[in-house]
Amino acid sequence: MPELPEVETTVRGLTPFLEGQRLVAVTTFRPDLRRPFPADLAQRLSGATVTSLSRRAKYGIVSTDRDDHMIFHLGMSGRWRTEGGEAGKHDHLLLETAAGHRLFLHDPRRFGSVDLVNGDPLALFPSFVSLGPEPLSDDFDAAYLARALAGRRAPIKAMLLDQTIVAGLGNIYVCEALNVAKISPLRPAADVSRAKLAALVPAIKDVLIAAIAAGGSTLRDFLSPEGDLGYFAKDWRVYGREGGTCECGGKIERTVQSGRSTFHCPKCQR
Ligand SMILES: [Zn+2]
Repeated sequence: MPELPEVETTVRGLTPFLEGQRLVAVTTFRPDLRRPFPADLAQRLSGATVTSLSRRAKYGIVSTDRDDHMIFHLGMSGRWRTEGGEAGKHDHLLLETAAGHRLFLHDPRRFGSVDLVNGDPLALFPSFVSLGPEPLSDDFDAAYLARALAGRRAPIKAMLLDQTIVAGLGNIYVCEALNVAKISPLRPAADVSRAKLAALVPAIKDVLIAAIAAGGSTLRDFLSPEGDLGYFAKDWRVYGREGGTCECGGKIERTVQSGRSTFHCPKCQR
């Protein structure tokens, strides 16, 4: 599933094709993804000029000079492909620009979504209203995290996956950041010391920044249908490495929390 770094890389990859460009045609090839495409999507986007692209949590946002904002989510298997040509079986939406670019939203499993909001999407799009701060923003710091986790008895891992605490973190990057910060994913959130929280915040930012940097170097692949659909970073510290050796020499264990795999090292993560 694409996570925050993959969405950020997608937005950066789309920007040179779309920013400042007029959309001459917008075509859907089926009525829906996870939910229906907005009925007036083509009408409202056709003829508009894209003013900017941005990201909130795991959503990409394409904004136009009509103050319309197309908000896309890549679901499990979505990606944009930019090399043009004709629509394939799994291409469900086409944006054509005046410069001649043809951008297809490609999503074999169709768990993605496309919505359209007129006006400030951060205030108007329901999925954005209750989101916590962006993990890479200055608002996300140890003091914020201490306030947000005070009194919370749920495991720290579950709290970091809670989008109202911090937006856009997924399973892999949370496992990795907890290992960097030497915090057990099983520890009740309120019991994580202030010193550990002070280590956790930069750990989260660092794993995301490293993944975005790795994504930039494989951008061409990510934006093509033949590219690797997996994650950018392959050398995980703990994720997917049950029985492997942690940096500290400890043995990595796999547990299941809320139905999802957690990987951690009991020796150094306390
Ligand atoms: Zn360890």
